Amino acid sequence: MKHTARVLQSFERQVVRAKSTAFIGLGRMGSEMAFNLFSKTFAESPDAHFVVCDAFPTSAIAFRQNFVTQFPGAHIDIVQTPKDAVHASQTVLTMLPSSPQVKTVYSEANGVIPGLQSLSGAESAQTFFIDSTTLDVGVARSVAADVMRTGAQMVDAPVSGGVTGAKAGTLSFLVGGTEGGFELSQPILTYMGNRIIHCGPSGAGLGAKICNNLVLGVQQIVVAEAMLLGQKLGLNPRILAGVINSSTGGCWASSVNNPVPYSLPEKSPPCERNYEGGFATALMLKDMLLATDIAASTDSPLPLGKSAQNFYAETLQHRPDLAQKDFSSVYERLEQMRRKD
Ligand code: NAD
Repeated sequence: MKHTARVLQSFERQVVRAKSTAFIGLGRMGSEMAFNLFSKTFAESPDAHFVVCDAFPTSAIAFRQNFVTQFPGAHIDIVQTPKDAVHASQTVLTMLPSSPQVKTVYSEANGVIPGLQSLSGAESAQTFFIDSTTLDVGVARSVAADVMRTGAQMVDAPVSGGVTGAKAGTLSFLVGGTEGGFELSQPILTYMGNRIIHCGPSGAGLGAKICNNLVLGVQQIVVAEAMLLGQKLGLNPRILAGVINSSTGGCWASSVNNPVPYSLPEKSPPCERNYEGGFATALMLKDMLLATDIAASTDSPLPLGKSAQNFYAETLQHRPDLAQKDFSSVYERLEQMRRKD
């Protein structure tokens, strides 16, 4: 009898686990992504289960509170560790700052991999991971290889589109992994984004993301330089931005994320909110370091990338208050340099 009860309990746990999705890392991006994923999944399957986990328990509590207020009746639990998340859910997404946090969440004692190792072989094999963190390609490949050795599947799926895209559910996902992993990821990622691109094997999504952010990081600085120079030449910033955006210099950094307030009619870039709410300068410096590191290890010259990295680093040295502000705030550092203070 006792044995039958145990078998039934284990069966019920497996049924719930199969219907459960966990999200680890509820920061600026993760909280918006998890909200879209959970709310759209819940609309289709009201018996779905959700699990959240963050290093700051208050973030998980606030997320859960907001979610149940908007979706009364939803099953959403908070777990303390990534290991608990793997025990509870067959599908697990992670959105963390960078390589050290991914290593902690996946490989440490209370992490994902020990969690997988303590499950049955069949349960491990049914588990699927999507990591959307922007991190080092080598670390990502090695973590994915460790996960896959347990029988589970994993893809890297870093994103482009920022907090606005995360909130609107219009992110681009750059996926690295096997064809099978990509196919498993597609229906899940569709709840959070509208462009899902298979870039190649494990690590390829990150390679593409790092190359894109290398371009972006350089462009944002040069747009700030040009906008400052133009004003010193007596140009109205709105006219100058209009010229650049309808000419060969136009790019996202000038037409969407222009660093000069009120230079873009009908748009409201972070500079108009004291550079709040965009992509943090500290995260851009991290991405430039990822690019220069991988370039060094592949003997690929990055003269502009290296200069841009140095400029983000020296901006944060002189203006640590800009670390969490949008990276277009490098414009403020240029202005400060011009004033020589
Ligand atoms: P964030 O710092 O706001 O969020 C990270 C979250 O991870 C935080 O809530 C933090 O508490 C949590 N965390 C850290 N260590 C943890 C651990 N050991 N266990 C559980 N939770 C942990 O960062 P973000 O802006 O959401 O960015 C996340 C990733 O997305 C980064 O790799 C970033 O480069 C990338 N990205 C960000 C943007 C953007 O506009 N913010 C755009 C594209 C890509």
